[in-house]
Amino acid sequence: MLVLLPLVCEAKKEHLIQGRTMGTTYHLKIVTGYFQGIKGLKDKIEKRLGEINQSMSTYIKDSEISRFNDLGQADVKFEVTDDFFRVMQMGKKVYDLSEGAWDATVNPLVDLWGFGRAGRKNKIPPKRQVEALLPSIGFENIEIISPGYLIKKHASVTLDFSSIAKGYGVDAIAEVIHREGFQNYLVEIGGEVYASGLRKDGQPWRVGINRPQKDAAISNVYKVVRLQNKAFATSGDYRNFFEVNGIRYSHVIDPKTGYPVANGVVSVSIVSNTCTFADGLATAIMVMGHKNGLSLIDRLDDVEGLIVIEKPDGMLVDFYSKGFETEN
Ligand code: ADP
Ligand code: MG
Repeated sequence: MLVLLPLVCEAKKEHLIQGRTMGTTYHLKIVTGYFQGIKGLKDKIEKRLGEINQSMSTYIKDSEISRFNDLGQADVKFEVTDDFFRVMQMGKKVYDLSEGAWDATVNPLVDLWGFGRAGRKNKIPPKRQVEALLPSIGFENIEIISPGYLIKKHASVTLDFSSIAKGYGVDAIAEVIHREGFQNYLVEIGGEVYASGLRKDGQPWRVGINRPQKDAAISNVYKVVRLQNKAFATSGDYRNFFEVNGIRYSHVIDPKTGYPVANGVVSVSIVSNTCTFADGLATAIMVMGHKNGLSLIDRLDDVEGLIVIEKPDGMLVDFYSKGFETEN
């Protein structure tokens, strides 16, 4: 019996925690020693997710973001929580790096194009309606003041963190699991991921990118990426769009023109150190297009990416940053 003991001690177990949050699902995998439990961890995670939703969900009437949006006054100090402040700071970084391609104040346009909370319209709004909204769009219309204040510079400016909140949720949950003393785990919320350490078999975590075509099954894996102590986020427009006369109108909007992007980019995947940044940047590059997007990724340290474009004939073409590695 004694000879077996070291073997048993080294054996590992993988625990799965899953549930729903932010209008989607989440899945966590946590590697522990064979006899080690994770008692109480799910409650801590659900509590943290609850806090983040109470801060960033526009579906909650009295959430922090809803209260900010309802404040119809300029030049008034609005105090925010650390969570909200950190997302604003990361957002500012993505806004600056993308030269305004990512912009969390774009939501009136998202609503006008029928991709907002009011639901699908599947029709093109009149040009004058698009143009009428442009003056109130612009992340620079919100002043971010340390340690935790925001000021609207334009009374009607509003925020929507749809393109970045899942990534922030992933980072926040990774922090909870890390604080509980675990080193090897995978956090996933609605496809955005953070992979810490290794799987129970000692190999890096593996995540798949869906085939970015509207009729492809969710199980149709296009590329597989190995991750260790890295975040991974994907933005795509191959499921969320409508078509008029064969032209595709995406849920990602160019904040400068007010029109959905039509640059052929169907999917952007980013590997980076935080999922908040990866999530925001993936959306930014949907707007920037593959040339500017790739050159931005290659200029940034610790960021890699894969941009997929669809040619008019339906062919998919991949553009990889210099250090992006896939298994296939
Ligand atoms: P998803 O959340 O569907 O995985 P994204 O992370 O790319 O995809 O977020 C897309 C959402 O972000 C849109 O549905 C819309 O609410 C919002 N959005 C659209 N255009 C922009 C933009 N230029 N900058 C920031 N957010 C945007
Ligand atoms: Mg995103």
